[in-house]
Amino acid sequence: MSIIKEIHQKLIKREISVEELVKEKIKIIKEKDEKLKAFLTLEEKKAIFLAKRLDEELKKGEKIDLLFGIPYAAKDNILTEGIRTTAGSKILENYIAPYDATVIKRLKEKKAILIGKTNLDEFAMGSSTENSAFQVTKNPYDLERVPGGSSGGSAVAVSTEMVVFALGSDTGGSIRQPAAFCGVVGFKPSYGSVSRYGLIAMASSLDVIGPFCKKVEDVRIVFEAISGKDELDATSYNLEKKEQKKELIIGLPKECFLKGLDKEVEEKTKEFLKKIEKENIKIKEINLKLLDYALACYYIIMPAEVSANLARYDGLRYSPLENEKNDLLDLYFQTRGRGFGKEVRRRILLGTYVLSRGYYEAFYKKAQKVRRLIQKDYQKAFEEVDFILNPTTPTLPFKIGEKITDPLSMYLSDVFTVGANIAGLPSLSLPIGFSKEGLPIGLQITGPFCSDYLLLDFAQKLEQLIERK
Ligand code: GLN
Repeated sequence: MSIIKEIHQKLIKREISVEELVKEKIKIIKEKDEKLKAFLTLEEKKAIFLAKRLDEELKKGEKIDLLFGIPYAAKDNILTEGIRTTAGSKILENYIAPYDATVIKRLKEKKAILIGKTNLDEFAMGSSTENSAFQVTKNPYDLERVPGGSSGGSAVAVSTEMVVFALGSDTGGSIRQPAAFCGVVGFKPSYGSVSRYGLIAMASSLDVIGPFCKKVEDVRIVFEAISGKDELDATSYNLEKKEQKKELIIGLPKECFLKGLDKEVEEKTKEFLKKIEKENIKIKEINLKLLDYALACYYIIMPAEVSANLARYDGLRYSPLENEKNDLLDLYFQTRGRGFGKEVRRRILLGTYVLSRGYYEAFYKKAQKVRRLIQKDYQKAFEEVDFILNPTTPTLPFKIGEKITDPLSMYLSDVFTVGANIAGLPSLSLPIGFSKEGLPIGLQITGPFCSDYLLLDFAQKLEQLIERK
């Protein structure tokens, strides 16, 4: 059953007030977040004030939306008017957003209540939230392990019921990977189906905003509320809802079950696939040969776009850091040198390099061609199968500190997720169980471009299979 619908019923029947609901969530945050560190900013007073107002409205007995009064959190790279929005970076430490991102505006219209802003890797670059300039978020299942990243704070907030749902952004896996590590559902919609207006850009041709929830049905409710054409984002559009086919065929890419896959992740995935087969869903092995190149392609295109997008933080705009000398070049050096963390600087350098004269053709242009081929590879696969399944991550949640000094091994945790961003496809991580040590494992479901609603239907079906045991 959908958690949002359950709360909605309680609100209508007056079994709970919005104020009680919000206070209950704030209490959980106060109890748990000192250790977990999911939140960067809490909007306690505003949230309670709004809750009281909504309770007044409720008394009038008018029809209310499903998201009315529902407490949620947003990743701190999504602009929220009048509220500090840091992107996890020192360079924006004191930046107060002057307007709402479209997704926030749409949720406001539905009267959902924003409780706070969640921690992330600086400018969404990372897979563990260790790159945040402010704090390291912990995995709720084992405090010595990472929650995944970059939307680690949002995943933890939902996993521990500090909020009912949370928004994240996914450029190469930043919703799905932390969802898998924290045992919740994380959905990266088709590129462009959700407006990016007001999302602090990382790599604009890959970035998408999407929800974290405990149940697929709730993901659908939030997705319906935030998606759709927005005049302020030229890449946005309205999605059509299509009929699901009766007989589904699922593709398993051979490439995902090769070396480097954790034994327990493999076992749990295969166990679950057997369950699926019993439901008369056909499973077929497929080849996604170009998936091998997805990570390399991503780590050229993404930094190229990062280097362009982050050029705007020059010390003149946004919140400048203190600077001693009165010299323009020095202002740039000081602001960017002190304001950006190591990983962000690394990517700006990489991006500038692949775009520079003499290297552009060899790297950036070639990566764009490979991107096209990867898209075609998926298209071909979707002529044979309806959805593609594979583990969301090759490993279980890793220890804090384990990969932070080795960027290449950190980048490898995105090996199964980046493909969907490169091709713009909708992709969801569904929790399917736990390892022997009690660490969550996620299954990734990827569908053809714009098949978002069909994918959510299918994910809900699989979720019921898990619940049935
Ligand atoms: N972990 C990936 C990276 O570091 C993905 C980031 C993201 O999706 N924002 O780039």
